[in-house]
Amino acid sequence: MGKLICMGIESTAHTFGVGIINNKRNILADARDMYTTEKGGIIPSDAANHHRKLKYEMLNKALEDANLYIKDIDFIAFSQGPGLPPSLLVGKDFAKELTLKYKKPLVGVNHLCGHLEEGKFFTKAKDPVFVFVSGANTQIIAHEGEKYRIFGEALSVGLGNALDKFGRAVGLGFPAGPKIEQLAKKGKYIEIPYVVKGMDVEFSGIVTHCINLYKKGVAIEDLCYSLQETGFAMLIEVTERALAHTGKKEALLIGGVAANQRFIEMLNTMCKERGVKSFACPLKYSGDNGIQIAIAGMLQYNSGYNIFKTKQQIENVDINPNWRIDDVETPWMKN
Ligand code: AMP
Ligand code: MG
Repeated sequence: MGKLICMGIESTAHTFGVGIINNKRNILADARDMYTTEKGGIIPSDAANHHRKLKYEMLNKALEDANLYIKDIDFIAFSQGPGLPPSLLVGKDFAKELTLKYKKPLVGVNHLCGHLEEGKFFTKAKDPVFVFVSGANTQIIAHEGEKYRIFGEALSVGLGNALDKFGRAVGLGFPAGPKIEQLAKKGKYIEIPYVVKGMDVEFSGIVTHCINLYKKGVAIEDLCYSLQETGFAMLIEVTERALAHTGKKEALLIGGVAANQRFIEMLNTMCKERGVKSFACPLKYSGDNGIQIAIAGMLQYNSGYNIFKTKQQIENVDINPNWRIDDVETPWMKN
């Protein structure tokens, strides 16, 4: 088989990314730019404007880094959902524009699937329980039967967004996760609610509780530390039960919050006690990026899933802001 080259476009939330890989596991380019704010959270229309402004710059940077012309790309994959509609629309329109102009097939990738496949790609994990903790999503996922299935999840906000929400209220800006991690190093534990309901977790009440304590003068370092310890412990409890239920022998931490060293350490401890291997997606690839979309896109393309080839098919492609991972076909995975 000759070399197949895929360009992946990521645009579900704050990051606009263009990644290029080939089917020999080579990363050829990873151009990306993240919308950030000094104070306050993500404003969807501003994030979309950021993406619109930078899309050609990211495309050109990726092609330059890969030393390729767009004609060398065999097909384009884009993040079809889930995500913020204004952001998703920019990526979708850009992917359609390029595929129609240069007559390339288009592959619609589930963003979560991108995170999962990228996690396996960059670690030795083969069939893990995924601890997927990004901004909007917090889910414990494993492959069972024909699909990725969700074993437990955050009932309202995901942990990343919960940290960001707390950060916004106490003036840390966006994203707050890394700043909370640093502040937590100087904090001590104070008691805050711990909310696990069956296999699900609930962070919003905890955040409100911490914001109220902050207003009453409790030290920000102590709140950061307690918020982390509690949020991570809740997820590790559910992960441990998912491991017991599925009998899987690996756990893999992915998503933007996987950058947190304390979280990695807590997961390692639990896994070691259970005799399970634990992995974390490398820091560089834990956040949103175009490579993850190219990796999942390559698997999909080779198995014939969710590909649009004709002009009419491509013209009809739309975003899928609520696309759940358990609705994704995974013909490249054989149990
Ligand atoms: P993603 O949506 O996967 O790109 O992840 C973004 C989320 O990860 C944001 O909510 C960040 O606050 C969070 N995040 C990034 N780095 C860290 C960190 N070191 N600790 C905790 N959360 C983090
Ligand atoms: Mg993400």
